[in-house]
Amino acid sequence: MPEPLHALSPARRFSGNVTVRVLRAGWFRPDAGGFFGVVPRPLWSRFAETDDRGRLHCRLNLLLIDAAGKRVLVETGTGTRLSDKDRDIKGVEGGDPAEALRAVGEDPASVDFVVVSHLHYDHAGGMIDADGRPTFPRARYVVQREEAEAAHGDELRLRGVMEVEQLDLVRSAGQLAEVNGEVELVEGISVTPTGGHTRGSQAVMIGARNGGGRQDDPHERAIFFGDLIPTRWQLPVRWTSAYDDYPVDAVEVRSRLLARAAAEGWWCYFTHDPGELPIRLEATEKGYRPREG
Ligand SMILES: [Zn+2]
Repeated sequence: MPEPLHALSPARRFSGNVTVRVLRAGWFRPDAGGFFGVVPRPLWSRFAETDDRGRLHCRLNLLLIDAAGKRVLVETGTGTRLSDKDRDIKGVEGGDPAEALRAVGEDPASVDFVVVSHLHYDHAGGMIDADGRPTFPRARYVVQREEAEAAHGDELRLRGVMEVEQLDLVRSAGQLAEVNGEVELVEGISVTPTGGHTRGSQAVMIGARNGGGRQDDPHERAIFFGDLIPTRWQLPVRWTSAYDDYPVDAVEVRSRLLARAAAEGWWCYFTHDPGELPIRLEATEKGYRPREG
């Protein structure tokens, strides 16, 4: 049986009674050369397959997080506003976050916060629906101020690459929450700036720092990296993608976060990974790799 386009993973619980489910909102096919950037094909092609157009088959993984009576959706997929030509070139299947939620029996109006890691089309494209209204009618949309400013800046490289229209429609609907730096949205869920991939990229830290205090609390934490580390294929810290706007920063921040993730046993969620999530990491002489068991 072919697997369904949309699916919701079983809930995993983290410190502070935070539960996380992966909402699989479809697929897209990034160009492998762009995705792996400076890394020679013989190195990455051992584990990542390409189609006849040289593209990878990657998921659009969103997170649905419940904590302290609030619901947070992380990322919005591609949405519905891409042209047919773009959908074809980018190999998008699905991508509409509202449709994905409804397909698994959840209501887009149940979302209190939407975290957008950065303003590229496959993360921010679903902020707005086909009619130009916020896809999540009750939600505050959390974007780093630096990212919003970069989207409106005059850098030629960014022109046409950032979802400026989406951002402005959410802002004019009064639902944009521009944040500056690390911010706790609800107890056990924080956003933290990483830069690297884009100037204002942010990661999501999941799980209360001091544990929930309850006997049965799992005392475990998790991280969602956004496109700083889009799949487990990018665990070698120097594997910068051609889409990383600040590759020198990306390598440094990846290195720091992966060191903590391995040392502190954080569970890792990857936004474009086609495999089962989350995973934990171990540090070896050759770098970080998924930890067995
Ligand atoms: Zn992406």
